[in-house]
Amino acid sequence: MSFSSLGLSPALQKAASAQNYAQATPVQEQAIPAVLKGKDLLGIAKTGSGKTAAYALPMLDLLQTNRAFRNRFVKGLVLVPTRELALQVGEVFLGFSAHMAIKVKTLAVFGGVSINPQMMKLQGTDILVATPGRLLDLVESGAVHLSDVEILVLDEADKMLNQGFEEEMRQILKLLPKKRQNLLFSATLDNKVNAIQETLLVNPVVVEVKEEE
Ligand code: ADP
Ligand code: MG
Repeated sequence: MSFSSLGLSPALQKAASAQNYAQATPVQEQAIPAVLKGKDLLGIAKTGSGKTAAYALPMLDLLQTNRAFRNRFVKGLVLVPTRELALQVGEVFLGFSAHMAIKVKTLAVFGGVSINPQMMKLQGTDILVATPGRLLDLVESGAVHLSDVEILVLDEADKMLNQGFEEEMRQILKLLPKKRQNLLFSATLDNKVNAIQETLLVNPVVVEVKEEE
């Protein structure tokens, strides 16, 4: 299905085609309209099915329209299990937002490197992509404020939970405003993912893309 029928604004449709995204993948086709409506979402689809754009495009659209820049601090928070994924997701947001009329600042933060350069880059960040441990360090040091987060994404939730980030994730959830949109993406729906989606998601739209689709 083409990106023109999913409810994205012309600017975001242009951003998709500028990145050579001509047709939406099944998970994008089902997730994008739901995210644009403000729904919580559970997205289960295998690696390579296009889950990043399934949340990045509608998040950018929401930031640019009804929720545009009312708040000062991070508005979209994406939690990921690894440094590699943080960088990769950051690049996807960057690629899409390059074609938008408004300026959106995305930053990726992760452990294993020194914290100071990340702290210095944080000011004015609209969308923060983070691994859980480093995010908590940055919050503790006062460099990140989570009080304005309107959309939370847990990406590769199965990996995050199975790589020992569960406690950190739960700590982060306690720091977020109660009223927010929650999106959870995972390749698999195991017991741990199921447990966290039950506590996190409110009346979610469930998008499950099976292998054969
Ligand atoms: P997942 O998170 O499900 O593993 P990604 O979001 O990383 O998948 O996407 C996998 C690859 O497919 C990336 O290289 C991405 O650029 C590409 N891709 C995703 N959606 C589309 C699309 N609609 N059209 C063309 N390429 C796409
Ligand atoms: Mg992914």
